Amino acid sequence: MGKRKSEIEGNTPKKIKPHWAMGLMDAMKDPKNIVKSDDLVTVIKDAYPKAEFHYLVIPKEDISNLKALNKDHVELLKHIENIAQEVASLEEHKNKIFKFGYHAEPSMAHLHLHVISDDMNSSCVKTKKHWNSFNTPFFLNPQDVRESLETDGKVSLPTPQQCKDYINTPLHCHKCKYEPKHMPDLKKHILTHL
Ligand code: AMP
Ligand code: ZN
Repeated sequence: MGKRKSEIEGNTPKKIKPHWAMGLMDAMKDPKNIVKSDDLVTVIKDAYPKAEFHYLVIPKEDISNLKALNKDHVELLKHIENIAQEVASLEEHKNKIFKFGYHAEPSMAHLHLHVISDDMNSSCVKTKKHWNSFNTPFFLNPQDVRESLETDGKVSLPTPQQCKDYINTPLHCHKCKYEPKHMPDLKKHILTHL
């Protein structure tokens, strides 16, 4: 039988990412996407922004995801956080509040830190998963990620069941106690916070 969704590598089943999930590598090479770049990282605009401003800080080193990090990467993570802060502080973002985070289970290959304005006002926000991936503990605080790496030599991640639970959390507004039944209600409601 041919290998399909998973490939056995030793005793560990390794998920193969579909082609679309490899897109960040190409995206970070395209000058029209690049907001900022230095020896260590490239910052690109998210192609499907989940807020008015949404960027990804991507290390140039080929690091697949948080699980591939070790203690030698602590300084790199600090740098990623500093660059994220610099991008959020750009003049064009005056009066905007930004959030920073890694997704506990990213859909795209290649480590990336999200830098996202906290309005969540975008036509690309369509599903409960889109919403909850930025508004529950599925969105991992970068300092917590770095500190767990520093302390334990690896990043402490929620379990797959916890991730599922976060993504399935009933919808709630991130700015007040409103609990909409459906995304269209929530999308209308968040306009009241702009
Ligand atoms: P994650 O769930 O953390 O892997 O998020 C991946 C992010 O990459 C999402 O916010 C997508 O909108 C974004 N994205 C997907 N494809 C591209 C691309 N080709 N260029 C830039 N951003 C992308
Ligand atoms: Zn609200």
